[in-house]
Amino acid sequence: MPEFVLDVHDLSDAGKSYDFPVRTEWLAVALEGTGVRVSDTAPEGRLAFHAHKQGADILIQGRVTSTLVTACSRCLEDAVVHVDADITRLLTARSAELRPEPDELELTPEDLDRDFYVGERVVLDDAVRENLLLEVPIQPLCRADCAGIPVPVHVRGPADLSAPAGGVDPRLAPLLSLVGKFPTEE
Ligand SMILES: [Zn+2]
Repeated sequence: MPEFVLDVHDLSDAGKSYDFPVRTEWLAVALEGTGVRVSDTAPEGRLAFHAHKQGADILIQGRVTSTLVTACSRCLEDAVVHVDADITRLLTARSAELRPEPDELELTPEDLDRDFYVGERVVLDDAVRENLLLEVPIQPLCRADCAGIPVPVHVRGPADLSAPAGGVDPRLAPLLSLVGKFPTEE
């Protein structure tokens, strides 16, 4: 069942405003297999937008908010991503007479945020999912100064190699016992 659906008949010349909750249950399914999941402690997100007709096309402009969780790129712990993103889509009507084939060979950059709809229903599920995932950084961090995975003690080198300052290197200790045993030349 699609979650975010507009009925084209509802759109007058002035358009219409919509406000949907971005439900945890919907996100759980929509984000399956992406490595991103919805936060189970944060408040529910929202999808709020205004839709109006431009000829046979429909222009959607609004915002989507949600709180997502993914793995920190340094330590693999949870990294929380607060999404508050613009969502802008131009949906072009496609009917049997009008543009029967997708114009895949003619895609240009301006088509990137362009979708199609067929019939009287516009479904925004894919657009919302895409906008949310675009907000997840390529290298997410659990916190800005995450130090990464701590090196386990048994993998670290001996402490005397990494911290030479303070005290005498134990490997040189035998030499200390010789100090003062030889007469100094006057
Ligand atoms: Zn981290």
